Parts: sequence; structure tokens; C-alpha cells
Amino acid sequence: MQIREFQKMIEAQYFERDSKRGMWKTFTWFSEEVGELARALLREDKTSQEKEFADCFAWLATLASQAGVDLEEAVRKYENGCPRCRQTPCACPFVR
Ligand SMILES: [Zn+2]
Repeated sequence: MQIREFQKMIEAQYFERDSKRGMWKTFTWFSEEVGELARALLREDKTSQEKEFADCFAWLATLASQAGVDLEEAVRKYENGCPRCRQTPCACPFVR
């Protein structure tokens, strides 16, 4: 599945309901999912991590749809290497 196909699938499933909620309330749900991903990463539980990555990606997709952003088009900024240094792997100075 391509990124655009995924975004369209999520739109079909949730766009109407999420649009009624509004972008900012939807963003709080996305933030909640990011917190759940953090907990799954800390637990080092692969099954939970996969579930939470999927949930975060779905909430990100529905937010992008509400904002009118095509995720597949947006991620093209990375197709020619790091957007800052243009290298693969990135050669920017490491920052902690
Ligand atoms: Zn770089």
C-alpha cells in the first residue's frame, strides 16, 4: 500500500467524524496516541509498539487530510536525502 492509498483509506473510515470533531481536538487525540507509543517503546513490547505506530500513523493521516495535506507529496522532501545537507545518510552535525 502506498502512503496516498493509506491516507485515502483512513479518510474513508474517519474523515467525516474527525472533521466534525475539528482539527485541534483531533490533534489532542493524536498527541494521546504519541504518549501511548512512548509507553510501548519504554516497555519494549513489540506487539504494542506495532499497534501504537499504526495508531499514530492513522491519526497523522487524518490530521493531514483535515489540513488538506497530501502526505505522499509532503514526504517527497526526503526523497533526495536529508532535506538540510542532501546526504544519505545525513551528514548534519549530531545534536543530542
Ligand atoms: Zn543532514
